[in-house]
Amino acid sequence: MTAMRKTNWGALTTALLLGFSAPGVSAAPKYIFYFIGDGMASAQIHAAEAYLGARRQDDAEPGGIKSVALRMSQFPVQGMQTSAANDRLITDSAAAGTALACGHKTNTGILAMDPTATRPYTTLAELAKDKGMKVGIVTSVSLDHATPAAFYAHVAHRNDYQRIGQALLESGFDYFAGGGLRVDRWDGLEYAGLSDAQRYALLREQASARGFQYAADRAAFTALARGRPTLAINPYLDDANAIPYALNRQAGESSSERYQGSISLAEFTAKGIELLDNPQGFFLVVEGGKIDWAAHANDARTVIEEVIAFDDAIRIAADFGTRHPEATLIVVTGDHECGGMSLGTRATAHTSALEILARQHLAHDDFDDQVLTPYLARHTPAPPDIPPGLWALVSSHFGLDGAGLTTTTADDLSDHARSLLEAAYDKVAHDHSDGSAEADALRYGNHNPFIITLTHLLNRRAGIGWASFSHTAVPVPVLATGVEAWRFDGYYDNTEVARRLAAAMRVELGP
Ligand SMILES: [Zn+2]
Repeated sequence: MTAMRKTNWGALTTALLLGFSAPGVSAAPKYIFYFIGDGMASAQIHAAEAYLGARRQDDAEPGGIKSVALRMSQFPVQGMQTSAANDRLITDSAAAGTALACGHKTNTGILAMDPTATRPYTTLAELAKDKGMKVGIVTSVSLDHATPAAFYAHVAHRNDYQRIGQALLESGFDYFAGGGLRVDRWDGLEYAGLSDAQRYALLREQASARGFQYAADRAAFTALARGRPTLAINPYLDDANAIPYALNRQAGESSSERYQGSISLAEFTAKGIELLDNPQGFFLVVEGGKIDWAAHANDARTVIEEVIAFDDAIRIAADFGTRHPEATLIVVTGDHECGGMSLGTRATAHTSALEILARQHLAHDDFDDQVLTPYLARHTPAPPDIPPGLWALVSSHFGLDGAGLTTTTADDLSDHARSLLEAAYDKVAHDHSDGSAEADALRYGNHNPFIITLTHLLNRRAGIGWASFSHTAVPVPVLATGVEAWRFDGYYDNTEVARRLAAAMRVELGP
């Protein structure tokens, strides 16, 4: 199967993948890309591919297009990893990040330390640095979030953001880029009473004192030069200091200046290559961190756009690999599945209509902040039932019609679907509780009941189901191409991803 796949990497790479490169024979790759899609397993990847296919042709067309392969899916080596933590079958990003960064199991919540949180584990990024490579960490969420932090911080609690931020500055790594830092969670007395802007100013001072160049807008980002460690933060950050969702940035392009000048994960990746390239090579970690967040919110359209944005970053690395086929290794994986996402539901059985998801124009968070919350604030006291104005917003943002607003019957909600949305509205607008916390938890999780009901109704119509608001233990693909990619074939544990990468790099992770 490996040999039959088409690769653009030329005969040399093809030969390596055919097994001509036994361990120890070829040189260690000079350029290593380690892509981690947070919350990304097969369902998230293939939902994006099937959506792209459905945009081109109805899947019910016999012989027609069913999906369009992402760049990562075209990698010649495909493995599969299990993601369990030391203390649970279903992991979190701290334990999974530790496994992927260090090749060791730990308990959920712990970063790059053993399950007793007394002994630090060495990370692949640290070993790459020791080897003389330059090291970069890129993510669409905050740079101190569990997955990226597992490569440079050794802490007992993933929420200890102040210590993680210090570890970032003291890491000696060369390029940190993407989201910001959770400065709002720094709990030292010296930060008491300071605004986030003041805290960022202090971060910038501390970074400068350590020799970092600092960019927090597009002009400064464009002007970044080689030779100094770099901290580059997107000019727009959400409530959790992450880059706004790709879907919201697209909406901003057409309807407003809202995210003008925002920097994509692909651009942060390209800049990393530009700044890190040197004779000793580089080790670049790139996390698509918000696939997970959108999956927690059971928001399929947003998941899909995050996966595509992640794949766009992978494409940058793959193009670089095409230019340096004898020196590049790209490994793509996820840390765990999220949401229990399925392609197919009880309601839709064997039919699907993923193109319907295109009717959604904002991700769950911006629909809340920009549309729903302002609407409810303008209309107090809230009417007993969903008012026509709100139905109009549901129609324009999700393509669902519960009030006979449009002439297309395909978007009409059934009586049952309408009653579900009315119940959710009642909850949000009147803080109504029917006394069943268990029923609410099953229906809405800890999300806005109105919005989660909207995404559920739209997703179900499209043929996307969700079994959970949390992570699951579904195994995660590992996709690899380039020098030493053959090592990632097979079915193995997540610690093995790091161990096989260490073997490719000719470094020792330690016991
Ligand atoms: Zn998560």
